[in-house]
Amino acid sequence: MTVELTSIREVRRLLAAYGLQPRKTLGQNFLVAAGVLDKIITAAEIREGELVVEVGPGLGALTRRLAEAGARVVAVELDPGLLAVLRDVLGDLGDRVRLVRADALKVDYGTLVGTRSFKVVANLPYYITSPFVTSFLEADYRFERLVLMVQREVGERMVAQPGTKAYGALTVLVSYHTRADIVWRVSRHCFYPPPAVDSAVIRLARRTRPAVPVLRPDLFFRIVRAAFGRRRKMLPNALEGAVPGVDRETWARIIQTAGVDHRARGEVLTPAQFGLIADACVRMGFAPPSVV
Ligand code: SAM
Repeated sequence: MTVELTSIREVRRLLAAYGLQPRKTLGQNFLVAAGVLDKIITAAEIREGELVVEVGPGLGALTRRLAEAGARVVAVELDPGLLAVLRDVLGDLGDRVRLVRADALKVDYGTLVGTRSFKVVANLPYYITSPFVTSFLEADYRFERLVLMVQREVGERMVAQPGTKAYGALTVLVSYHTRADIVWRVSRHCFYPPPAVDSAVIRLARRTRPAVPVLRPDLFFRIVRAAFGRRRKMLPNALEGAVPGVDRETWARIIQTAGVDHRARGEVLTPAQFGLIADACVRMGFAPPSVV
């Protein structure tokens, strides 16, 4: 069964035929703009036969486009009602699409796709965006890139510059693992039903090496999180308690040894400067054996 999923009328008709309604709690805002689907497919640069994980296939609009572009798609959907629709509307694509019923936040993507490198392409439900991107990047999977529709404000946080309001721990995590850019800004009216906010398609291309080569990535991220946890405070105050036994005065010494102004606030530091502080902490013998 092939359905024209970029027409609001058809989306409504399809949902009604299965006795379904868009579930707000699951972030069900279906993309109904063919031009935006084109942008996502272009940004994904699909090669014939490559593996793509799609989170939240919904009614299958993007899934079909991915498969038709040559991808083998593993689509992870939580809502059993939508899975029933997907089985019907994507049936003609055969084994090019594998449907998995799971919570995308609980999936081990290494187990799901095996040892092959893969891409993630998704119109994410907004309530899982930050936890999904964070846990996915921290897990260090063999992904090549992620192309994601996200809430615009979250997309802007991912590509923010130091010293701006949007800059934070998410920015540092994203830039540590990937080169990030906003591909396209998307109006809320491209979705049915329209969400309360606008969106953006972001591309996160995995770096071959981390942007900041630090001695102890776990310590680096602990320092980053503490600095942004109290982002208005000067660094030694913000970092107090981040590492057992390292007090404010000691942090001031570590930060100065790293060549960073100890009166600065974390929100103005570049990822490289956080790296210098983390490495100075290790070299001066203040890092505990493991801070994971
Ligand atoms: N891909 C479709 C599109 O572009 O029209 C639907 C996107 S809609 C924004 C988000 C989809 O994610 C919905 O199908 C929703 O049911 C699904 N979803 C919500 N929470 C999920 C979760 N934790 N794990 C997997 N899928 C989820």
